[in-house]
Amino acid sequence: MYKRQFIRLFGRSAIAFGAMLATKMKAQAEAPYRYDQSPAFYRIKLGDFEVTAIHDGSLQFDPRQLLRDETGELSSALNETLVDPRVVTISVSGFLVNTGKQLILVDAGTGGWWGGPTLGKLLVNLRAAGYKPEEVDTVLLTHLHPDHVGGITTLSGASVFSNADVRMSQIESDFWLSAKVAAKATENERGFFKIARAVSAPYLASGRWRPFAPSDRLSDGIEVVPLPGHTPGQVGYEFTSVGQRLFIMGDVVHVAEVQFKHPEIGVAFDGDQKTAVGQRERLLKRLVAQNILLAGPHLPFPTFGRIRKDGDRGYAWVPVSYADTPFFK
Ligand SMILES: [Zn+2]
Repeated sequence: MYKRQFIRLFGRSAIAFGAMLATKMKAQAEAPYRYDQSPAFYRIKLGDFEVTAIHDGSLQFDPRQLLRDETGELSSALNETLVDPRVVTISVSGFLVNTGKQLILVDAGTGGWWGGPTLGKLLVNLRAAGYKPEEVDTVLLTHLHPDHVGGITTLSGASVFSNADVRMSQIESDFWLSAKVAAKATENERGFFKIARAVSAPYLASGRWRPFAPSDRLSDGIEVVPLPGHTPGQVGYEFTSVGQRLFIMGDVVHVAEVQFKHPEIGVAFDGDQKTAVGQRERLLKRLVAQNILLAGPHLPFPTFGRIRKDGDRGYAWVPVSYADTPFFK
C-alpha cells in the first residue's frame, strides 16, 4: 500500500516536474518571429516557351483611396469581394519569357524608385529563378509607370539589363519623356515623369531605348495589343507558341478581387478613367471569348489564370494552382 502510494505520488511529482521542465525548455527555445517570405518566382510552360512570373513585392492600400467608382456600388463591392474591406494587397510582378531563342522580360518592377521597401525585389528573384540580368535580350514595357519601368535602372543611374534593348510604344515614350507634357502635370504626377526620364537615360544614351510603332512586328509569337486608357500608350503583349496563348495585360486590372467582378470600377492611377473602364470591359470579353490564359503585373501572385463570365456584366478570376512542375494544360 505504501509502495503504491509512493509510486502514485512520485508519478504525479514526476509529471509535474516534467511539465515544469517542458515550460522552461520552451521558454529557452523561444525563437524570434520572421517577416520574410521565400523568393517568389513561378514558371509555366507555354508551348515551347517557358514563362516565369518574377515577383517584385507587394503593397497595401486602403481600397477607398485606390479604387474609383461612379456607380455608387463601391461599399457593397468591397464587402462582397475582400477578406477585409479596409485593405487590399497589390502584387507587383514582371515576366521572363524564354522563347528558346531570346530571353524577354515584360515589365521590370520598381527598382526601388517607387513604393518603399516591400517592393524592388525583382532582380533578387530573377537571380533566384536561375537567370542573370545581362542574359536578357529585350525588355518589353507595358507602360512607363515607375512600378513597371523603375527596375531597368539602378538608383545611381546605371542600366541593369546591360545587353538588352528596352521597347515600349512610341506614344508612351513620347508622353512620359515630353518636357511639355510634364510641365502641365499635377504635383502628384510630376514624380512619375521624373522617374521615367531618369530610368530611360542610360538606354537613350546607348541607343537601346527603342520605341515601336503600332504596325511594327516585334518577333515570332509576340503580338502587341494597344490598351490606352490607364496611360496614353499602354500596350499588352500576346505570346503564342504551338497554339497556346498567354496575354500579359499591363494595368488593366489592379485589384483582382474587385475589378473582375466589377469591371466598371477603376483605380486612382488611371489617366483617363472612362477609357480605362471601356478598355477593361472589351479586353475581358475578348479573353473569355477566345479562352486565352491571362497574366498581369498586379494580379495575385503567381498571377496566371483564366477568366469566366459571372453574372451580366462581371467575370470570375480562376487562378492556376501552385504546381511543382512548370506544366500548363
Ligand atoms: Zn500603371
